[in-house]
Amino acid sequence: MVVWALWGYLLSVKEERTQCSVDLEPLRVKGYREDFWAGRLLAPQCKVSGCQECLSRADMYYRFAVLNAMGWVLFPVPIQRWLCALHGRTSALPPFLHRYLHYMVEVVEAVLVGISEDGKRLEELVEIDGPSASTAYRWNEQLLAEQVREWILKRLRGAWELTLQGYSSARSGTIQAARYLAKQMQIRSFSPFLQRAKLAYMIRYAE
Ligand SMILES: [Zn+2]
Repeated sequence: MVVWALWGYLLSVKEERTQCSVDLEPLRVKGYREDFWAGRLLAPQCKVSGCQECLSRADMYYRFAVLNAMGWVLFPVPIQRWLCALHGRTSALPPFLHRYLHYMVEVVEAVLVGISEDGKRLEELVEIDGPSASTAYRWNEQLLAEQVREWILKRLRGAWELTLQGYSSARSGTIQAARYLAKQMQIRSFSPFLQRAKLAYMIRYAE
């Protein structure tokens, strides 16, 4: 019993990321935290273009973000949600987070899993400064295409059979196959395989 508990603990430790100490954070991140807690953040524009309403503070939440290519994560970053009297809630990500988002495998994976696996709506996932609706739908369509799944299953060489029963959709089955391949190769993220597969079939169709 103790051995299993220890094994479980070791596995969970292996999955954890190195968290960047707040003291070591870049100055722009530190500055943002100070402004946030001092209430100095400026209200953004409403997400509906042309809306002239002044946004008021609503609630807040914490956001996870990867700091660098080593996979270090920032201590959870507080994000302010804002309220437009006409168009509802919206939130603006700080510029430094916005920049990291473009490099974050986690964001791509969160969008794929959220939409194709958990059946969430895009509005529940994407911040106004995150990927656009068209980008998010393109990821889901292209990265989880049937050809991508075939490419992955071929690499698994029968080690993992896909029966689509039990998955909410064929796309969710593609995510599971990619997860399995990543696990086999001891790679933490599954989306690089989707990217690789997509590239492979695009080249094939271009010939
Ligand atoms: Zn508005």
